[in-house]
Amino acid sequence: MVCHDAPVIALAETSPDATLAAAADLARAIVLELADATDVGKHLGCEAEGERIASHLFACTSPGYAGWRWSVTLTRSADSTDATVNEVVLIPGTEAIVAPPWVPYTERLQPGDLSPGDLLPVADEDPRLVPTYSFGDDPLDADAKAQVRQVAQDLGLGRVRTLSPEGLDMAAERWYSGDGGPESPLAKSAPDSCWSCGFLVRVAGHLSGTFGVCANGNANDDGRIVSLDHGCGAHSEVKLARKQQPIPVPDHVFDTLTDDEFDSL
Ligand code: SF4
Repeated sequence: MVCHDAPVIALAETSPDATLAAAADLARAIVLELADATDVGKHLGCEAEGERIASHLFACTSPGYAGWRWSVTLTRSADSTDATVNEVVLIPGTEAIVAPPWVPYTERLQPGDLSPGDLLPVADEDPRLVPTYSFGDDPLDADAKAQVRQVAQDLGLGRVRTLSPEGLDMAAERWYSGDGGPESPLAKSAPDSCWSCGFLVRVAGHLSGTFGVCANGNANDDGRIVSLDHGCGAHSEVKLARKQQPIPVPDHVFDTLTDDEFDSL
């Protein structure tokens, strides 16, 4: 149900309570108690929020809030025609400029964001890691895990946690689709692949069939993980075609007719 003659931006499926829908002037008066009159525009409509609960919408004309709307929610008891104000808020319309969705910092971090001295703790439940030792069948609470971890450290059992299969998969996918993978521009124009390059250092473990480390100090990927089907122009067996080879410089010729020759006699 539309209040006044103003166009409605959005209407709930059910019609608002008639008494509340007729209380647009009350709703406007409430907004004007909180905002400057210059920031309150035309009445945009009335939406049902529930049984005997309805919200009146007014355009927000403040320059910094284009597309936003004042929303005044009214309610009343079943045996009364007096409307009560529940809340007054600014809500974004479909055209409003709003902040992008919040992304936790752990998901925003990129390689290279960590500065010297920064700490980046890894959560106990990080799926990329699993305990190197067994917890048994019974799940442990955080305190128990901390105690087991401390014992493992005291006993010198080495790494407390190691990569989980999921952590390995995530790393492999990241490396394979990155600059060290077969789809990078460097690899696509390479004459040969890393698997046949003398500068490839083989790695052990589950990823040995897919990755190695480049050890060519003249290559862009020196010291980095590369997939075996990656490649670059610094491949150990690269040969220049005849037309790509530098033009040979003739040997120096001793000129016996110059002044130097006469000076040395
Ligand atoms: S020099 Fe090039 S081809 Fe050889 S291992 Fe490094 S990246 Fe691969």
